[in-house]
Amino acid sequence: MPVSPHLLPTYARVDLAFERGEGAWLYTAKGERYLDFASGVAVNALGHAHPVLTKALTEQAHKLWHVSNLYRIPGAETLADRLCAASFADVAFFCNSGTEAIEGAIKMARKYQAVSGKPERYRIVTFEGAFHGRTLAALSATGNKKYLDGFGPPVEGFDQVAYGDLEAVKKAIGPETGAILIEPVMGEGGVRVVPHAFLRALRKLCDERGLLLMFDEVQSGVGRTGALFAYEHSGVTPDIMALAKALGGGFPVGAVLGTAEAAKGMTAGTHGSTFGGNPLAMAVANAVLDVINTKDFLAQVKQTALRFKQKLAELQDRHSSVIAEVRGEGLLMGLRMVPPASAMVDELRTENMLVPAAGDNVVRLLPPLIIGEAEIDYAVNAIDRACVRLSQMHAPKKGAA
Ligand code: PLP
Repeated sequence: MPVSPHLLPTYARVDLAFERGEGAWLYTAKGERYLDFASGVAVNALGHAHPVLTKALTEQAHKLWHVSNLYRIPGAETLADRLCAASFADVAFFCNSGTEAIEGAIKMARKYQAVSGKPERYRIVTFEGAFHGRTLAALSATGNKKYLDGFGPPVEGFDQVAYGDLEAVKKAIGPETGAILIEPVMGEGGVRVVPHAFLRALRKLCDERGLLLMFDEVQSGVGRTGALFAYEHSGVTPDIMALAKALGGGFPVGAVLGTAEAAKGMTAGTHGSTFGGNPLAMAVANAVLDVINTKDFLAQVKQTALRFKQKLAELQDRHSSVIAEVRGEGLLMGLRMVPPASAMVDELRTENMLVPAAGDNVVRLLPPLIIGEAEIDYAVNAIDRACVRLSQMHAPKKGAA
């Protein structure tokens, strides 16, 4: 059956639909199962139908779904307290998506400079290859022409520089610069782990020049890398951070976290969201933290990632004409491909395994954080067979120069 013509065709959808999910597996209506190493693009960190999340959602659904932020929402206060206790932050604002979290972060940074007597410092340095979302300011921060084309003038105030180029960052900083925004691990841009020395240099630069350092951990945050937040690996703390995706485990939740200083301009009436932080969303996000934010769970993610990465490295050794590089942090992993990444995505789908592609010709491996040995073995065997087929399909022709 073709896709309904009434659905706006903004996605190049694969002709595949699922009826239910359980753990790392998705099931079609016919009962065919697929190993889900896309996780709704880094959302289903606890897999599908995790009993703790299902219980939290259904219990809350029987009590209260939504009230306005005109009133106190105890679940939001609890979640804010917990996120702040577990991070650099003093305050949190809840919204519904990653792009909204980025919008909130941008507004917080601009307001900080304005209330600090420097309203001219509204510009933000961002990085080529980054992805920050689809609303207009987030797109302008992303700076990708492909996504901006035809949507009128981008939001003013973003200066893209080459990733990893400290001199370019220094050059881009002018009297109107107020902040630097970066993903500690660039997800959509091809799973590029930003060198810790670069993050440290950005922190130093921000401190010297009175700028705010903002991390986009929409994809890397909430356990994905084996730490609650990816910045922990570097020891560099931001002033503002955007979260979403795994925070709700599949329920739409986003958050902007900030230090008290960075958030000092965000007083009553300066920002808001009808749905942000509602009781249903907060019940689920608190349940997500109950499971993920424990030493044992995060240690398990690290161990799983290590075992998986070792096996992927062996595959790369055996199939170096197909896999150019294995990279990533924790279970935010990427295979940089020799043939087109899309070919690997398609081959793996024929193996009943789902993965998303990313920039820089990378196939992302974003399994639920709860995977065990059986799922790793299934994935490794599927990738192995796909590599064999791809090496045959893309082998240099005999006699070719
Ligand atoms: N920031 C990063 C790093 C992302 O990976 C994404 C989405 O992929 C976003 C922001 C935007 O999030 P959302 O799609 O929830 O708006």
